[in-house]
Amino acid sequence: MGLLVVGSLALDSVETPFDKINEALGGSATYISLAASYFSGPVELVGVVGSDFPREYIDLLRRNNIDLEGLQIIEGEKTFRWGGKYHYDLNVRDTLFTELNAFQNFNPIIPERFQKSKFVCLGNIDPLLQIRVLDQLNDPQLVVCDTMNYWIEGMKDDLLKLLRRVNVLIINDSEARLLTNEPNLIKASRLIRKLGPEILILKKGEHGAMLFMDDTIFSAPAYPLETIFDPTGAGDTFAGGFIGYLHKTRDLSSDNLKRAVIYGSSMASFCVEQFSTKALEDLSYLKIQDRFREFKNLSNFDQLEIDK
Ligand code: AMP
Repeated sequence: MGLLVVGSLALDSVETPFDKINEALGGSATYISLAASYFSGPVELVGVVGSDFPREYIDLLRRNNIDLEGLQIIEGEKTFRWGGKYHYDLNVRDTLFTELNAFQNFNPIIPERFQKSKFVCLGNIDPLLQIRVLDQLNDPQLVVCDTMNYWIEGMKDDLLKLLRRVNVLIINDSEARLLTNEPNLIKASRLIRKLGPEILILKKGEHGAMLFMDDTIFSAPAYPLETIFDPTGAGDTFAGGFIGYLHKTRDLSSDNLKRAVIYGSSMASFCVEQFSTKALEDLSYLKIQDRFREFKNLSNFDQLEIDK
């Protein structure tokens, strides 16, 4: 019972107030797969790159227990490139350029071996491609999906069709407002869950994440880091940790979903400590569990009485 990840693989050029980096490994599927690989593997990746995609990145993904049978390498094409610049408020990011290149004509083909996967993470790509992936699968048990303002604004009808087939939607607060035209996040969450996903996770950058399911709202803090180097991929890394943990445990109870949110937040907190995917390349499960414990202490007030 595999874990399938579909999304972008990219060469990212990122500028923060502290430093900049050129053509580093990035992309939604890259971050999701690397994060998930600490919990469950091999992770089955489906995506596309050009023939200029560095060999060392292929080796890195393979070393991290990521199965690349579904990776298309298009001869003579260039890899998808993305450039972003962060402001002093690292929640604010300008996209400097998006060069689709090999991604432009991407047709996700799911290898037969992956079609039986029961856990699926649809990284942020064109909703029509996300639908095409679902059409090729045999009865997945849990479909987790990410999207962004670009698709909400430009392809809302297709996105709405997709959402009917999704179990968990992970988006940020501004995207939830955009999708529903509702400024209040609690009301927006109710509206989104009527569109299809039984479970909604709202990411709020340095303010943590909220899980909405049944009548439960669970709020997880963000880890208070002193050095945030590069927020790129934090959302994807969250999604990878979240689904990776659920895939490892095969338990979709509400307590375990809450645990998965904390594991997702833990992975995201590592991701932002270094540029690109660096922090996700040689973590250990012990380190991840330590961070989970720190999260627990951060917001635990079980011992406190309501009054003295
Ligand atoms: P995040 O910081 O979680 O929003 O994800 C950033 C990653 O998304 C970067 O590594 C980019 O390469 C990738 N990315 C940016 N724009 C797009 C897009 N339009 N489609 C697919 N991937 C993208």
